[in-house]
Amino acid sequence: MKPYCRDTWVEVDLDAIRANVQAFRRHIPASTGIMAVVKADGYGHGAFHVGREALDSGANSLAVAMLDEAIVLRKAGITAPILVLGYTPTDSVVTASRWEVELTAYHADWMTEANRLLQEASAKPVGIHIKVDTGMGRLGVRSKDELFAVVEALENSPLLRWAGIFTHFATADEPDVTLVCEQHERFQSYLRALRETGRRLPRVHCANTAASIAFPEWGYDTIRLGIGLYGLYPSAYMKQQARVQLVPALSLKTRIAHLKHMTEPPYTISYGATYTAQPGEQIASLPIGYADGFSRLLSNRGSVLVNGCRAPVVGRVCMDQIMVRIDHGTARVGDEVVLYGRQGDEEISLDEVADCLGTINYEVACMLDHRIPRVYLRDGKVVDVYHLLTGQRALSQSVNN
Ligand SMILES: *Cc1c(COP(=O)(O)O)cnc(C)c1O
Repeated sequence: MKPYCRDTWVEVDLDAIRANVQAFRRHIPASTGIMAVVKADGYGHGAFHVGREALDSGANSLAVAMLDEAIVLRKAGITAPILVLGYTPTDSVVTASRWEVELTAYHADWMTEANRLLQEASAKPVGIHIKVDTGMGRLGVRSKDELFAVVEALENSPLLRWAGIFTHFATADEPDVTLVCEQHERFQSYLRALRETGRRLPRVHCANTAASIAFPEWGYDTIRLGIGLYGLYPSAYMKQQARVQLVPALSLKTRIAHLKHMTEPPYTISYGATYTAQPGEQIASLPIGYADGFSRLLSNRGSVLVNGCRAPVVGRVCMDQIMVRIDHGTARVGDEVVLYGRQGDEEISLDEVADCLGTINYEVACMLDHRIPRVYLRDGKVVDVYHLLTGQRALSQSVNN
């Protein structure tokens, strides 16, 4: 039995994830590790499957945005180090200890309070990465005085273990390197100041995908590999440069649910009747909509692939369905349709969809809802399925049926 019923699914090619990790492995110094960033359920691809594949392919640790995401991975059996990149309230620090998850912190009072709570709970020490704000303006200490106050508070907290220090770049994906170089300079000056006091530094990291591509020598102890892991470039500029060859891992597919030849009225399509078919047009209905993350902004603008050719979205995208016009060849109910990815010689990349929506590929991937099952492939064969909506997981035997 199929572990899901609907005719719309995301395919994630685990071989692509592996190839991307290996491409970065070759690009960065051998002494630099790879932290695979799998926040937002692995940028919509599925954090557990991508994280496990990345670790099996040479990544050393994982990162997520929040503690809940880390706990999901621990419960699924991942034992590698996991770092929470975002803010964690101190009332969750005992939970972090219990699940052996490392946290980001940047405030002296936070250290003191976290240590007190850990002591009160007789908990095990928690690894802490100190965040430095060198120009992102989001989280982190903003001066050397602040840094030393935080480091001293950490050193005075026996249940906090200093595990790392890091910063995050705002413009590493752009051709103008002025700001990113300034940020890196600033980061280095913080590290120098710490070394001058005779301290041994913990794990140092700053490079996201873009910086790892543009400045592999800035990898320090580990890069934090996000978008590149999924085979996507951080910007059009970086894609065009192609300094690292990446393989997109994700495709979004569905099957034709209904077909009609518009030989007589009514000719209007979807809410608002914003599209009127010409007599003779072939219109297919597809079981995917904006509730799945196929944005309503693609109404009368996006396209999909049928028979290896583009079929434009006609009329408004509904919550659960869209209509497309098939201009090339004939089609049948049940035919496979590619919304994102390749079919024959044609491709609809997440970058193209992002451009159409006025956003970035990151968001297009993250928007994919958990109503859509994730199907994992290796050597082109289904090896696992993950469907958060139904809680179903199943292995290939039952899926290929
Ligand atoms: C999301 C994130 C990353 C990964 O960024 P990519 O551009 O996807 O490589 C790295 N570091 C931090 C702090 C992040 O929030």
